[in-house]
Amino acid sequence: MYELCSLSANIDQADEPPPTTAQSPTDSGQLSETSHKEANCFDDWKWQISKRIRDLTGLYELFPNLKNNDFLPTVIKKYPMAITPYYASLIRKLDMSDPVFAMSIPQISELQDPACLSEDPLEENEDMPVPGLIHRYPDRALLIATTTCSMYCRHCTRKRVAGTRESTISPLRLKQVYEYLITHPEIHDVIVSGGDPLTMNTDAIERILETLRSIPSVQIIRIGTRTPVVLPQRITDELVNMLKKYHPLWINTHFNHPNELTKQAVEACTKLADAGIPLGNQSVLLRGVNDTPQVFEQLCRGLVRMRVRPYYLYQCDLVKGIEHFRTPLSRGIEIMEYLRGRLSGIAIPTFVVDAPHGGGKIPVLPNYIVSTSPTHTVLRNFEGMMINYPEPSLGRPAEIQVAETTARSVWDLASGRSSVIVPENIKRYQRRKTIVRKKNASMVQEEFNF
Ligand code: SF4
Repeated sequence: MYELCSLSANIDQADEPPPTTAQSPTDSGQLSETSHKEANCFDDWKWQISKRIRDLTGLYELFPNLKNNDFLPTVIKKYPMAITPYYASLIRKLDMSDPVFAMSIPQISELQDPACLSEDPLEENEDMPVPGLIHRYPDRALLIATTTCSMYCRHCTRKRVAGTRESTISPLRLKQVYEYLITHPEIHDVIVSGGDPLTMNTDAIERILETLRSIPSVQIIRIGTRTPVVLPQRITDELVNMLKKYHPLWINTHFNHPNELTKQAVEACTKLADAGIPLGNQSVLLRGVNDTPQVFEQLCRGLVRMRVRPYYLYQCDLVKGIEHFRTPLSRGIEIMEYLRGRLSGIAIPTFVVDAPHGGGKIPVLPNYIVSTSPTHTVLRNFEGMMINYPEPSLGRPAEIQVAETTARSVWDLASGRSSVIVPENIKRYQRRKTIVRKKNASMVQEEFNF
């Protein structure tokens, strides 16, 4: 049972405007009914972790109205539940119209998957040269440092991993990661992710950062975390003092809705930014949560005020258990169209589809090029104004030199370095290869006959 019974008091304030601060007992004026000891507990991240809502007993104690949802045990069995008391205190209404409710409370829809969804659509497991390390892009790798999160987001793209068992990377695994990175000096940027790495204790996080920093070719370390959103109390002076020893260190967090931009979240981000850590935000486009241009604009404006740069807006991945959150791709483009011109460039994220089959992030934009000719490019702005941009009279700039070892890409076509890229499994080309092989064989045969 939660010591802070007043936690649930917020639920009745259904139609209030979105909070600008978490309505926790600490700042809601309810302190008079709770002891100072309890108030201190609410601000203690370890208390928050130990009091996460992990089972139905805890959930029903806080939200008795959810008792008649008889699907809950089945959903929780498949996809674990965890909600910090802090994040639960941001729920204003007990239904899916509340964004915090939608992102934290299990739903029957998680069990209703169309055939196009899979557990690992990004094929991360296929790009794992050593357990826990995903190497997809030439110069970057992602380390799954833990499978634990303080909250299990219902829209999580790693539902197959997060919370299925709560564990952190072992010394042996970390050694394997080290050995892989030291023998792959082309990897300059390592993202420490999970699960949520900031749920680990400070010493354990430091062991990972120390290991990565001991590899001369690793220039940038990034941490992917939702902690400032769901457990801002974790951003303690002790943690920040440790993190700032490992610069250049970046943090990407994961705010999805303006209701998450509370006083506590602002304080957490301020501490990190004051320690010289650049902050970015990766949102996911979620049906009913943030899929209107106005909500998204409000989120981006709030983030920039907190010194958090909106970095990516992700289209939902084709992951099992999240169909009810998916929006059409066109909705993301609509949002991008709306933001351009209304917000400054630093407040506009890049909208990306993380392509199935490990295709990586593909930026998707409204089309701003109306037409091109060798002498002019016709562009349009957000208002619909059309402008011609004259091409330079000096002709093409100097040829770009790149090492021959660079992997072939669409850029090679655009720069004229290649004339074609042919996907391996096109039947017609496989047939062609067979025909060429047969022709070569018969020519050799003819030579012998001769
Ligand atoms: S914190 Fe991140 S990894 Fe954990 S459940 Fe949420 S989205 Fe998934």
